[in-house]
Amino acid sequence: MSRETILSADDAAPQPVASSAQALTTEEDTALRPKRMEDMVGQRKVYERLMIAVEAAQIRKEPLGHILLDGPPGLGKTTFATCIPRALDVPLQIASGATLTAPKDLLPYLTQASAGSVLFIDEIHRLPKTVEEFMYPAMEDFRIDITLGEGVSARTVNMTLKPFTIIGATTRTGLLSAPLRDRFQVREHLEFYDLTELTEIVTRNAAKLRVEIEPTAAQKIAHCSRGTPRVANNRLRWVRDYATTKADGRITLSVADAALAMLSIDPMGLDGQDRKYLETILRVFQGGPVGVEAIAHTLNTATDTLTDEVEPFLLRAELVVRSPRGRKLTAAGYEHLGVTPPADLMQSLLNDVAEPEDDSQPLFE
Ligand code: ADP
Repeated sequence: MSRETILSADDAAPQPVASSAQALTTEEDTALRPKRMEDMVGQRKVYERLMIAVEAAQIRKEPLGHILLDGPPGLGKTTFATCIPRALDVPLQIASGATLTAPKDLLPYLTQASAGSVLFIDEIHRLPKTVEEFMYPAMEDFRIDITLGEGVSARTVNMTLKPFTIIGATTRTGLLSAPLRDRFQVREHLEFYDLTELTEIVTRNAAKLRVEIEPTAAQKIAHCSRGTPRVANNRLRWVRDYATTKADGRITLSVADAALAMLSIDPMGLDGQDRKYLETILRVFQGGPVGVEAIAHTLNTATDTLTDEVEPFLLRAELVVRSPRGRKLTAAGYEHLGVTPPADLMQSLLNDVAEPEDDSQPLFE
């Protein structure tokens, strides 16, 4: 059975399940994850709207409406989902869409949900249709229909649930069916973090890890973190290890530079996988357009890894565009690889954009 932990809101160390392939479950990650919404850096608009929903629920003494959080991995969906029940002082249950393969897997979570409690479902886009449909009455009317027995003797029992809140997290809102999406009263999209926010996260987390860091080094690590707190935490931990073994333990700018160079992080913060993606479009597919599946096959990588983890930042950085005919390098993409863009690039981009979109899953809605 796929049941996981029931947490009480004042548990000092929440244990979120993996929110993506990159999710970290180490003790250090738990240590770095903000415990309260007030401690979260950035995402101010989302934070303010969620705070209003939380405070209104507290004042009215009603359960919070269901919340859907979407955005690329590592931007804080799980962190919000663990901080919200703590703000409400209610228990939290954690499940993952990937492990809820049949309604019976969801049943224990629903029956265990106490009044006002939160059920966090990570990767909610991976729920099979049968589980999704089973959830509809639970979300709307706090009841479920359970079929007992089989064949002619089968009967449906209606069970009432305590009013509770589902927080769903997804990297792909586009994969959610409209009926499921519409059952979330609050829907928030998390954006990449800017340099100031990431620098703040690196500086705070260096203090939590009890490592001395120069402000310029914190800024450098932030700059090389693809706009993503989880990446910032990973880079910080690597630089700290490097400082421990190759220097006197302090993270100076030169230590950070040397440590990041050893990971082959380039000046824009792109790692080897990002560059291989761009180079494949350039060298194998002459700059594109090319479908993401073809790139994934060539790189021997899962398409989901490219669409969920690699592409969102490269698209945001405008190194690549998604044209209706596939992925294509932009002038900045060529230049980043040290290649002069073709003279007719702009015209061909405009031609591609004029065509109707026939590409696979949308990244976000
Ligand atoms: P997601 O669920 O979106 O994949 P997480 O919530 O697991 O991302 O975030 C990954 C890590 O990044 C967390 O453990 C936390 O340390 C850090 N993090 C995320 N969002 C923030 C934030 N707003 N402020 C500070 N740290 C954050």
